[in-house]
Amino acid sequence: MTAAQPTERASAPGKVNLFFAAGPPRPDGYHDVASLYCAVGTGETVTATPTRHTGTTVDVAAVPGSLVAQQIERGTFSLDAVPRDGSNLAVRAARAVLERFPVLPGGLHLRIDKAVPVAGGMGGGSADAAAALTAVNRLAARVSGEPALDDDALLRLAAGLGADVPFALTGGAAVGTGTGARLRPVAVGAPLHLVLVAAEAGLSTPAVYAELDRLRAHRDVAPPRLPAGLEELLGAGAAAELAPLLDNDLQAAALSLAPRLQPVLAAGAAAGALASLVSGSGPTVAHLVADAAAAEDLADVLRGQGAPALAVRAP
Ligand code: ATP
Repeated sequence: MTAAQPTERASAPGKVNLFFAAGPPRPDGYHDVASLYCAVGTGETVTATPTRHTGTTVDVAAVPGSLVAQQIERGTFSLDAVPRDGSNLAVRAARAVLERFPVLPGGLHLRIDKAVPVAGGMGGGSADAAAALTAVNRLAARVSGEPALDDDALLRLAAGLGADVPFALTGGAAVGTGTGARLRPVAVGAPLHLVLVAAEAGLSTPAVYAELDRLRAHRDVAPPRLPAGLEELLGAGAAAELAPLLDNDLQAAALSLAPRLQPVLAAGAAAGALASLVSGSGPTVAHLVADAAAAEDLADVLRGQGAPALAVRAP
């Protein structure tokens, strides 16, 4: 009889950007941003198990009821779109931990339970990376009996994997500056109630930034900043007052590439949402509503119209 393999499981949230401003393109091609990240009540889980063979294997399942599961039911998405090789951000995260902490004699299997739409602007791949960093770090510590990498070491690894990975590791709400990886946590007085609506096809983040640069090519672009009062209103839990300040520089670019998002945004206003905006580089749309009952009602209506929709709290 073989002993049961040790297994470690960790979760990380998807995100919306309640506010997102991007500066002009920098010489290195990145953009400085001012982002108000907020974790949402739907996210990814990664389970890490050692294997006898070398290398990392991946399998992916949809979380029942999630936006991903709804996309699959409607035939607009297949889990085949998630890479199983070394380009998967969870695999890159696992390798980053094992380079610092090389204790597994064989290989590793990662199971990803996916809830966040792929290429949806909700940081799904980043959440997989964050969950994998945590799970593989715990697994390596358990197998070796050595202390796990501390939070600062994990945050450094996260920043090396992508601008949104540090936030996926910390969750809550935070202002992100630089490329988005420099985080300052902010207080939230009361959770916000959102309805997330997934689109039929994803948008590539680099393509959305390229479109933003094209649309702004002959304009002076101010350095990115959060509007005055935004943090205070979030801290006060004042959703109705917060609503007019929510904004996303990438929304015009996402709409230019995916005009079908316009009626999705308009459906929020028609249903009395406080605000509706594209999340990050899109195409997922977030409607801010007054309370949990309004969120469930709007999600029901939108699902009835055929859209994958989910009521969540944030954070
Ligand atoms: P962000 O909002 O952080 O810019 P996103 O949420 O729009 O990103 P992701 O779902 O993270 O987009 O994935 C974008 C691309 O990255 C996918 O099209 C896929 O090819 C690749 N990818 C790598 N790892 C993963 C992963 N674990 N899950 C999904 N896609 C991944």
